[in-house]
Amino acid sequence: SKKAGIVGAGLAGIATAIRLACKGYQVRVFEANSYPGGKLSAFEQGAYRFDAGPSLFTMPQYVDELFTLAGKNPRAYFNYQKLEEICHYFWDDGVQLRAFANKDEFAAEVEKKTKSTALELKKYLNKSKEIYGITHRVFLEQSLHLLKTYTNSNTAKSFLNIGKIDAMRTMAQANQGFFSDEKMVQYANRFATYNGSNPYQAPATLNIIPHLEQNLGAYFPDGGMYSITLALLKLAEELGVKFSFNQNVEEIIVKNGAVTGLKTVNQVYDFDLVLSNMDVYFTYTKLLKNFKAPKQILTQERSSSALIFYWGIKKQFADLGLHNIFFSDDYRAEFDAIFNTKTIYRDPTVYVNISAKLKSDDAPSGCENWFTMINVPNNSGQNWDKLITEAREYILKKLSKVLKTDVASLIENESVLDPRSIESKTSSFRGSLYGTSSNGKFAAFLRHANFNKKLKNLYFVGGSVHPGGGIPLALLSAKIVADMIKPAK
Ligand code: FAD
Repeated sequence: SKKAGIVGAGLAGIATAIRLACKGYQVRVFEANSYPGGKLSAFEQGAYRFDAGPSLFTMPQYVDELFTLAGKNPRAYFNYQKLEEICHYFWDDGVQLRAFANKDEFAAEVEKKTKSTALELKKYLNKSKEIYGITHRVFLEQSLHLLKTYTNSNTAKSFLNIGKIDAMRTMAQANQGFFSDEKMVQYANRFATYNGSNPYQAPATLNIIPHLEQNLGAYFPDGGMYSITLALLKLAEELGVKFSFNQNVEEIIVKNGAVTGLKTVNQVYDFDLVLSNMDVYFTYTKLLKNFKAPKQILTQERSSSALIFYWGIKKQFADLGLHNIFFSDDYRAEFDAIFNTKTIYRDPTVYVNISAKLKSDDAPSGCENWFTMINVPNNSGQNWDKLITEAREYILKKLSKVLKTDVASLIENESVLDPRSIESKTSSFRGSLYGTSSNGKFAAFLRHANFNKKLKNLYFVGGSVHPGGGIPLALLSAKIVADMIKPAK
């Protein structure tokens, strides 16, 4: 049967392997690291376990679907629970807000803790649902780069409603209109960071994002986030997919405009199809050196990156949940630092994820594993060592103040992930988390397609190409690509 070679065992690479195996292809995946999952990996630090990258799990159906496609019961591979409490929000003035999954409960909490009303929240979430309804089939579930997308009735319906997707003003402008309390404006603006964008620039269409978390739900896999990777790896292997770890692909071989295989450090392999899960920027600049990359790929603004401190904390905090946000005193200044001056604001918004809240064996008893993250600019050669030292101080000062505890004295062990190491560990250009930013109105159309007409037999999947970054979209890229490929037999 026909053979497919995949560059990278990130989530999108594994999902693509599963889909092509189901279509009858003989599939081999080459992964530069010794482990699968790319950004979605995990590690141990003393007696603590950490998920290294993603911590918020939405739209689990896109994972389940891979098992059902293969005729298996997803629950036999992995399980997850729906969160009742999605996130705990903290402000410096002592206000705390809990986002409950139950909309009425959350709305009541908003009315009680802020100057905004329950109705304001409900109107905002309904708008989010409306944008999702209009856009998801067209912008997320199919290629934007095939003529057939524009001739089907879903697309026609979406374009008739295009005025309602709020693309003409920024997210921050729209949110100012939804909420009378600045705290709620800040809550709503934060969703821009879910794809590494700036709420003061990105179109209000990104107000689609809270729908995923708040209306469709946030989930936690029983074994932690990494169990998503492990479950998919197991399924792929059962379907006969071969994985070669510690195998960096150095070149995609092109003959007369068609891809014929790929080259690793020690071998050349022939394939009928090659699919790259490597960041599209590096796919062109490193693997297709003799091919001229589309100019847009070389110049497009990248999404933001992250600085993460993985801290073993020898105490438990009753006020904290699985997801916790400590808001900056000046959100506009924080985003200005991330996207314009490309530095770190002195009072950054801090995200603390504690998987031990739901998976107690992730930390010793009486302790917690803190994945402590701030959004930072992508890597353009800043003095990161200096910025990291300063940021650590800012973060500790903020957490200690709000939690009324000297957090530094509770840190038992520590490791750090920064834009440089994100770039080197997963080959993400500039260490960006989500490929290109969505700061422009036409971002959805400017993201690289899942193919290039001038390179036959080559496809692109993953967070740096259409439909975008984050677990659900990376998985959808695999689906869109598999739908374009004919069965092997
Ligand atoms: P990657 O995970 O980057 O995988 C690419 C793989 O390809 C890597 O394993 C790499 O080693 C391999 N590779 C690259 N080049 C080569 C080569 N030449 N040869 C061989 N192998 C190669 N998303 C969410 O949904 N929720 C979150 O809460 C969330 N938080 C995040 C937090 C952090 C800190 C990070 C880093 C990301 C986060 N994301 C989140 C984004 C999410 O992790 C990514 O969008 C998604 O995992 C991307 O998957 P991928 O398969 O496209 O790419």
